[in-house]
Amino acid sequence: MVSEPNEALKDNLGTAIWIDGIQKLQDLEIASFFKSPITLNEAEKYAFSLLNMAVAECRSEEGFLVSGHANLMLHSPLYRIINNKQATRGNSYIFESDEIGAFRPWTNTISLGTKFYSTFAGKTRIPFYTFNHENTHLKVFKGVYSNLSMCDEEMRDLFILSEWVCISMDLILAHDLMRANQPACFRELCRVPFNQKGQNIFTRVCNSIREVNSFANEFRQTFLSGERRSAVFDLISEETLHLHREYAENTLLIEARKIPAAMENGEALSLLEKLRTSSLTDLISELIGVQYV
Ligand SMILES: [Zn+2]
Repeated sequence: MVSEPNEALKDNLGTAIWIDGIQKLQDLEIASFFKSPITLNEAEKYAFSLLNMAVAECRSEEGFLVSGHANLMLHSPLYRIINNKQATRGNSYIFESDEIGAFRPWTNTISLGTKFYSTFAGKTRIPFYTFNHENTHLKVFKGVYSNLSMCDEEMRDLFILSEWVCISMDLILAHDLMRANQPACFRELCRVPFNQKGQNIFTRVCNSIREVNSFANEFRQTFLSGERRSAVFDLISEETLHLHREYAENTLLIEARKIPAAMENGEALSLLEKLRTSSLTDLISELIGVQYV
């Protein structure tokens, strides 16, 4: 829940879980939370299985639920950094009645259309991967949506590459869930791949970081160039990629030019260069501070 073991009990979510399950979890030490899953003993495995059941659904924000939130907080270092309460403080989440919603991260707003949330028994629910994707736009890339000292082509690439990172985050979440053996959350994430016939893209490339990076490179080239590479369309449809490119080139560019520059020229150019050339996990390490090897 937090990166330092002795901070765990200061976190609201951590405290709630510990109070809720205190009887059954009394033998579980805080240090166990920071062990690799394959080194857990039987008692720890049992305690964690109870914990995983308890946290399958967890309210993360007032007014809506994020599916699997606590589970991802526990098992994904990337998710933990992007979506913890401190990182998301100040973000507004708006649920629209149209299908898509509006994209305006420069206002600290996440606006979701009906395609991205569900409502059951009066409760609104967002999947953890949508929450992570949208929060990444705000936490990592908010400054790029402004009138930077760049030509239109560079701005367009910056928007597309930012979107590329946000979409590619799903590959890392898949890697974390498979590594931690969390089938329920992994199954939910498997609604994302466009081509779900046969072996899906997550089970195919997310077992190793080397393969994740290799797929992400191919995805980046396809997204930037508009070339047709069929392997990429296993993750995201050609039509959706095309819509993202069109949106970056037209709407987003016009909107961003109206917003005062939120980044220094040198900083923006160096970010663009890194987004064009670094591997996905090197970018995650540099921009977010989480190491995947
Ligand atoms: Zn996005």
